[in-house]
Amino acid sequence: MSNLPVEPEFEQAYKELALCLENSTLFEKYPQYRTALKVVSVPERVIQFRVVWEDDNGNVQVNRGYRVQFNSALGPYKGGLRLHPSVNLSILKFLGFEQIFKNALTGLMMGGGKGGSDFDPKGKSDNEIRRFCVAFMRELSRHIGADTDVPAGDIGVGGREIGYLFGAYRHYRNRFEGVLTGKGLDWGGSLIRPEATGYGLVYYVTHMLEYAGAGGWEGKRVAISGSGNVAQYAALKAIELGATVVSLSDSKGALIAVDDKGVTVEDIEAIMKLKERRRPLSEYEYKDNLRYIEGVRPWVHVGQVDIALPCATQNEVSKEEAEALVANGCKFIAEGSNMGCTLEAIEVFENERREKKGNAIWYAPGKAANCGGVAVSGLEMAQNSQRLAWTKEEVDEKLKNIMKNAFELGLKTAQEYVEASEGELPSLVAGSNIAGFLKVAQAM
Ligand code: GLU
Repeated sequence: MSNLPVEPEFEQAYKELALCLENSTLFEKYPQYRTALKVVSVPERVIQFRVVWEDDNGNVQVNRGYRVQFNSALGPYKGGLRLHPSVNLSILKFLGFEQIFKNALTGLMMGGGKGGSDFDPKGKSDNEIRRFCVAFMRELSRHIGADTDVPAGDIGVGGREIGYLFGAYRHYRNRFEGVLTGKGLDWGGSLIRPEATGYGLVYYVTHMLEYAGAGGWEGKRVAISGSGNVAQYAALKAIELGATVVSLSDSKGALIAVDDKGVTVEDIEAIMKLKERRRPLSEYEYKDNLRYIEGVRPWVHVGQVDIALPCATQNEVSKEEAEALVANGCKFIAEGSNMGCTLEAIEVFENERREKKGNAIWYAPGKAANCGGVAVSGLEMAQNSQRLAWTKEEVDEKLKNIMKNAFELGLKTAQEYVEASEGELPSLVAGSNIAGFLKVAQAM
């Protein structure tokens, strides 16, 4: 029996990877990789610290701060900072672990890490958020650097927070360098970084549709969860390509389309402004194309859909919700969030894929489908190193190529290492996990 604390989210992330490796021919071909799996599952370093800041009433507040420097075999630790009351070491270890293999799938030279705090930005003033970020960076700044560890955003950390953090880093370290990504365009950021995760997700699914012979996005009904940065840009790109977006959500409830118009660009633009002010979706004054349902996730409420894109947070699709999506004709599921589906939900999709052959369901894990965000972070690092800024078209073109490569690598690796019957679509969850792992294991 282990005397280590229970870490449910990390154990789940580990299990997803380990099961994919176990059920493939990888360990038969390369038995030494069993040891690599053991080694890679322990973070190289975990930094835990106290963050003391002052609220608007002059009261002292304290939070827990973390940075998990998980693996640097491929490059400097790279991964976001999450500010959410649920944050603990198990969640950051799961996110850091995912990040190692996701970053490997981008083909760029980045290690994996993740950090954050149990600080809750909801209901805080801009000044309180700024004071928290400065206090957080007071300690974090000792442990990061452009060639050491390059944090970015995640849930609760957007452009504004990166600005506060970057200003504090410059102050504490007296260095102007590409130590954070997701920076503003005026001070070293990259075009397309805010859009990258959502756009990349849509580009990835475009390859799934094409490979499965399901055509393009025109006329497809797409269920999306979340209403933050990833959901917003995935929805805008899907609409641009001719799809109908039938849902969005936040932690309090879901907005569901009631007619064929779906969620409109105007809806999304208004929701962007609302979310910028950290307000709940329930405050959105929607028109008669939508209805709001309190306390639910979208999946069982969306009716018939072709594509589902979980873009909110971990474990947001349960076994029952996966079954409802299948029953409603959904054929493609790709995660914009990290570990959006439970292991049981993945099993539902994978069983359908195996059994249905020609008319199968196809599931893509977040570490492949959402790697566009961190990929453009990698491109931001490259631009910073060159002291250059690329055009929107250049970055978008590179992002498209990275998503194509991530898709094809997952596909090819599944074909190489996973036994399949005639006519079966290759398992993207197995292929992507094996491909990411192989790259890191080889480098280690
Ligand atoms: N938080 C994002 C992710 O989960 C982006 C990380 C980054 O850009 O470093 O991949």
